[in-house]
Amino acid sequence: MDSKNTIRCLCKQRETKELKVEGDVGADPIWCNRCNCNLEIDEISISLGLKLELIHWMGKYGEWIDWDNDDEIVPNGLKLEDQHNKQGLKLTKQVQKQLEGQYIVVFSPSTFARRYASK
Ligand SMILES: [Zn+2]
Repeated sequence: MDSKNTIRCLCKQRETKELKVEGDVGADPIWCNRCNCNLEIDEISISLGLKLELIHWMGKYGEWIDWDNDDEIVPNGLKLEDQHNKQGLKLTKQVQKQLEGQYIVVFSPSTFARRYASK
C-alpha cells in the first residue's frame, strides 16, 4: 500500500477514496464518507493555504449555537449557519479540485439551526 496516496481510516478496507467535508466542534474538517471517522487533515494532500482556510472555517462552526442557553440558536442563527454552509461548499469545491482523480469529496452542510427553526 502506498501510504502517500491512500488515507488510512477505520473502514474495513483500511483506506478510503471517499471524503466528506463537515463542520463539527473540536474535530478536523475532513471525514471518511464511508465510516464517518474523522481524518487527520495533515494526511490529506491539499495545499497548506486550503488547510488553513478549512481550519479557520471549522473554528467558526457553531457560531449560531447558543451553548449557554441549552443549545438554542442565537437570534440570527439561521443566517450564520447558511453563510457557514456556503463557505464550506466553496472550500469543498477547492478540495475537490485539488484531489481530482484521487478522491471523491462531498460536502455535508450543517442543519442544526434549520432543524431547530422547524421545531
Ligand atoms: Zn472510513
